[in-house]
Amino acid sequence: MSGIAETVSCLDGYDPDALRVDKAREAIFACVSPIEESEAIGIRQALGRVLAEDIVPRINVPAHDNSAMDGYAVRFSDLHDRETSLQEVGAALAGRPFHGKAAAGQCVRIMTGAVMPEGMDTVVIQEVVQASADRKVLIPKGQKRGQNVRHAGEDLKVGVPVLASGKWLRPAEIGLIASLGIGEVRVKRRLRVTFFATGDELASIGAPLREGEVYDSNRYTLHGMLARLDVEIADLGVVRDDPAQLESAFRKAARQADVVITTGGVSVGEADFVKQLMAKLGEVLFWKIAMRPGRPMAFGKIGNAYLFGLPGNPVAVMVTFYQFVRDALLHLSGRTDDFSLPLLKATAAEALRKVPGRTEYQRGVLFKENAEWKVRTTGQQGSGVLRSMSEANCFIVLEHERGAVKAGEQVAVQLLEGLA
Ligand code: AMP
Ligand code: MG
Repeated sequence: MSGIAETVSCLDGYDPDALRVDKAREAIFACVSPIEESEAIGIRQALGRVLAEDIVPRINVPAHDNSAMDGYAVRFSDLHDRETSLQEVGAALAGRPFHGKAAAGQCVRIMTGAVMPEGMDTVVIQEVVQASADRKVLIPKGQKRGQNVRHAGEDLKVGVPVLASGKWLRPAEIGLIASLGIGEVRVKRRLRVTFFATGDELASIGAPLREGEVYDSNRYTLHGMLARLDVEIADLGVVRDDPAQLESAFRKAARQADVVITTGGVSVGEADFVKQLMAKLGEVLFWKIAMRPGRPMAFGKIGNAYLFGLPGNPVAVMVTFYQFVRDALLHLSGRTDDFSLPLLKATAAEALRKVPGRTEYQRGVLFKENAEWKVRTTGQQGSGVLRSMSEANCFIVLEHERGAVKAGEQVAVQLLEGLA
């Protein structure tokens, strides 16, 4: 791959000093390529991982034609267009097939999941038949050929690929693989992500808070966001705004990780110093992104590791993580499904302040009122107000060109939670 600067300079509309969110995403995607290495693991452990092989069934699922209901297996050609009386000659249960041969005029008691007896093509549900003590079964008219029968291979067919490499494995896929009798699969190895926070003002939990200090929270939100993405995490702690300490932290992080994430130190006041350091260590671009919160951000490579230098403000960290880092990590991890966060529509329950020329990610509460989904903000929207994230269940995404929003207008929202 060519260098970072060379790759991004080819994108139209690339302006590092006023970079649109969509352009920043495009630039990142143009530069990151998925990891190749994989490992074989048991299917339970494969939950949340990325498949690194195609799954091609060697058996049909279901393996046999079987009944979808409890009732009687019949031969459709035996039925009249009035009531039909058949002789019950045996039973087929799930896991216990009927091995006899039923002749014309005969039927077999059958339970859900039981293999269809030879020659039978239709199941009549037990609720509609009349069975008598001498095992005569009265079938009402109006049955349909083939009803209530599940066919061999109707879920999965021998030789027809069902899951492709790159698929993210959810509970449904794990179950599906199990249904093929497969106990181990090849998945991409986990991404290794190393992070640290920078800032002379940062106190660590457990230490007293001295004048002018704040407790470092970014490492904890970052840890939480990364843990949910199922990556291998290494936390290098807090690093002072000191060239020698920063240099050694960057070198160490880049040696061990696929991705290095830092917070702080990329705002205008501090960037020059970090820029000089980066020029020595790797190839890193410093962006001013047309967004709020989260304007400054650095992106590039140190050695083989991708670097995301996020802003220091706690809300900006979360927003830039979700809008840029999350998707980059998912792409790097080898996923090929469309993993971008869906944008849904909701009605603004109140007027929202917004100026054109930047994308805003306001913290919102989505709620239902009179059968309509509405959204309001969580109030104070400062990029240091982490409470605004804690109270939110969504981002209200206000597009680049958009101006002020009136109550009642439609706005886009991104949910912060999915099915857990
Ligand atoms: P910076 O981007 O380094 O200029 O930081 C911007 C703001 O975020 C400052 O008010 C910092 O004190 C605050 N900040 C930076 N890092 C952290 C952190 N790890 N935890 C909490 N606040 C932070
Ligand atoms: Mg700082």
